[in-house]
Amino acid sequence: MAEERDVFKRIMEKILNYINGELVEPAGKNYLENFNPAEGKPYSLVPDSDTTDVQQAVNSARNAFDSWSTMPAEKRAAILLRIADFIDRDLDKLALAESNDQGKPLRLARSVDIPRASLNMRFFATGAIHFASEAYITGNEAVNYTLRMPVGVAGCISPWNLPLYLFTWKIAPALAAGCTVVAKPSELTPMTAFLFSRLCREAGLPNGVLNIVHGLGNKAGQAIVEHPDVVAISFTGGTATGKKIAATAAPMFKKLSLELGGKNPNMVFADCDFEKAVRTSVQAAFSNQGEICLCGSRIFVERKIFERFTEAFIQQTKELTVGDPLDDKTRIGALISEAHMKKVLGYIDLAKQEGGSILTGGNRVRVSGRCAEGYFIEPTVITGLNERCRTNQEEIFGPVVTLMPFDTEEEVIQYANSTPYGLSATIWTENLTRAHRVAVQIKSGIIWINCWLFRDLRTPFGGMKQSGVGREGGWEALRFFTEAKNVCVKL
Ligand code: NDP
Repeated sequence: MAEERDVFKRIMEKILNYINGELVEPAGKNYLENFNPAEGKPYSLVPDSDTTDVQQAVNSARNAFDSWSTMPAEKRAAILLRIADFIDRDLDKLALAESNDQGKPLRLARSVDIPRASLNMRFFATGAIHFASEAYITGNEAVNYTLRMPVGVAGCISPWNLPLYLFTWKIAPALAAGCTVVAKPSELTPMTAFLFSRLCREAGLPNGVLNIVHGLGNKAGQAIVEHPDVVAISFTGGTATGKKIAATAAPMFKKLSLELGGKNPNMVFADCDFEKAVRTSVQAAFSNQGEICLCGSRIFVERKIFERFTEAFIQQTKELTVGDPLDDKTRIGALISEAHMKKVLGYIDLAKQEGGSILTGGNRVRVSGRCAEGYFIEPTVITGLNERCRTNQEEIFGPVVTLMPFDTEEEVIQYANSTPYGLSATIWTENLTRAHRVAVQIKSGIIWINCWLFRDLRTPFGGMKQSGVGREGGWEALRFFTEAKNVCVKL
C-alpha cells in the first residue's frame, strides 16, 4: 500500500515555486499532497517550502526592487494588464483548476472568482497610473508635497476560500504601487497561483518582481513574516493566525494589514422587501458553502415576520443542490478538507447541545460517483439559540446559519454587536431613515443595505474589532504598500 502510494506520488503533477522568474522545486525537495476536496483524494503535489526557499525569494525580490519601483507606472500597468488579459483568455482552465482545488461549484469559479482575479489586476494596474501625490500651500510661505514611495519587499499571505481572487487582491496593489512581492497562497489551494505564475512569465513580468513560495503557514508563511527584509505584511485568514502574525511583526515595526474572520449579522426588519430579503439571505448564507468571510451567518428577523421568513428561507435552502462541483445544477460544492468538514459538523453537534433545533440539514452528504469520498455537508439552518451561545459567537465558516427573532431596533443592534467580530453586516428595511440609523450603530467595517456582497473596488474594505486591522481596496491599498514622505519647500 505504501509502495503504491509512492508510485502514485511520483506520477502526480508537481506544483513549483516561482522564484526569480523561474519555476523551481523547493530546496529540500519535499512535497505535500494536494487534495481535490470533492473527491477526497490527492491529485497533485505542492512544495513544502522552508526558510531556504523564502530566503531565495526575498533575495530575488530585493534585487528586483530598484528597477521595478522606478519603472514608470504606465509601464508597470501595461505588464499587469497583460497578465489580466491572459487570465481572461484562460478563464475556463483557471475556473476548472479552482473548482478542483477548492471544491466550489465550477459555475461560481467561472462567474465570480476568476473574473474578479482579472478585475483586481486591471483595477490596480490602472489605479497606479492615477495615484497622485498631494500638495499643500502653507500660507504664502511654503509648499508641502507628499511623495508616496513603494515600501520595499512586501509579504502577501492569502487563504483557501477564494484562492486566486484574494491572492490577486493583495499582490495587484503591491505590484502596482512598485513593491516587489513574496507571496504564499494557502497550501490547501495552491493550483491557480501556480498557473498564475506561468502567466506572469508569459506576460514578461521582470524576474524577481513576484515570487510565490508554496507551503505550510507555520513554516513558509512564518518565515516570510519573520524575515527582516520583508517590510510590510498583507494577510487574510483566521483571527488566531492574525494574532500570531501581529505578535511576530509588531516588534519589527512592519506595516501590517490584517483581514480576519467574521460572524456577520443579517438583520431583517418587517418592512423589508420580503422576497428579495429571503432570496439574498439564502445566498449570503450558503454561497461558496458558507466559506466566505462576509457570509451572513446570524440571521435576526423581526418577530412579526419570523415564522413566514423561516418557512420561505427553509424552502429555498432545500432547493439548493449539494453535489459534484462540476455539475451545472450544483449550488453547494465540497468543503475544503476533511478536517474542516469535521469542524463544521462539530459545530452542528454543539448547536444541538446548546439547545438548538435543526430545521433543515445537519448532516454529511454522500454524493454518488466520483465524489463518493468528498467533503459535503447539507446547508443547515438552526433555530432556538440565543445570541450569546458559542454557536452564535464563534466563526463556523461553513454552510450553517442560525435564525433568531427580535422585537425592537435597539435589541437587534445589541445582538448584532455582541460578538468579538466586526467585519460586515446586512440590513433589510424599506425605511431608509431606519437603515441609516442602524448602519451608524453597527460596529462593522462593511454595511450592506438591501443587498449583499455588492462590491465597488474603490471602497475601503476591512473589519473592526477582531475582524482585522487596516483597510484594503482603492487608494487604501495603494497607500498601504507605499510610505508617505512629506517634503516642505520654504518659499
Ligand atoms: P488561516 O489563518 O489558517 O490561513 C491563512 C493563510 O495564512 C494561509 O496561507 C496559511 O497557510 C497562512 N498561515 C498560517 N499560519 C501562519 C503563520 N504562522 N505565519 C504566516 N502565515 C500563516 O486561514 P484559512 O486559510 O483557514 O482561511 C479562513 C479564514 O480566513 C476565515 O477565518 C475567514 O474568515 C478568513 N477570511 C477573511 C477575509 C477578510 O477579508 N476579512 C476574507 C477571506 C477569509 P496554511 O494554509 O498552510 O495554514
